[in-house]
Amino acid sequence: MNLTHIEHIGIAVKNIEESVKYYEDVLGLKCYAVEEVVDQKVKTAFFKVGQTKIELLESTDPEGPIGKFIEKKGEGIHHLAFHVDNIESALKEAEEKGVRVIDQKPRKGAEGLDIGFLHPKFTGGVLTEFCEDKN
Ligand code: ZN
Repeated sequence: MNLTHIEHIGIAVKNIEESVKYYEDVLGLKCYAVEEVVDQKVKTAFFKVGQTKIELLESTDPEGPIGKFIEKKGEGIHHLAFHVDNIESALKEAEEKGVRVIDQKPRKGAEGLDIGFLHPKFTGGVLTEFCEDKN
């Protein structure tokens, strides 16, 4: 597999409007997109820092993955996303090397990226996402 850069860092928040204020007013970043990903029961807000994005995630359903994460661990870093140059082969290679993949085939994530997750039990506790921008 070939990881090209850190595409984004996903951060679980309770209230996206409140969190956006911190990133804009304190860090001086600009939120350039807000998007709901119905599939994952989240609302997302995006910032860019160089080539890397910050993705804020607010749950739209307490039973969704982000809702459960916040209930267990509170707000904070949720996942790390690497951009890869071929997501199908990266997921396959991880699986062949004994890592449990959450998505055997890529699915559509925010911003139209193809995404797939590796299970944190097999990645040193870091929920790891691969994504590929095919647009
Ligand atoms: Zn992500």
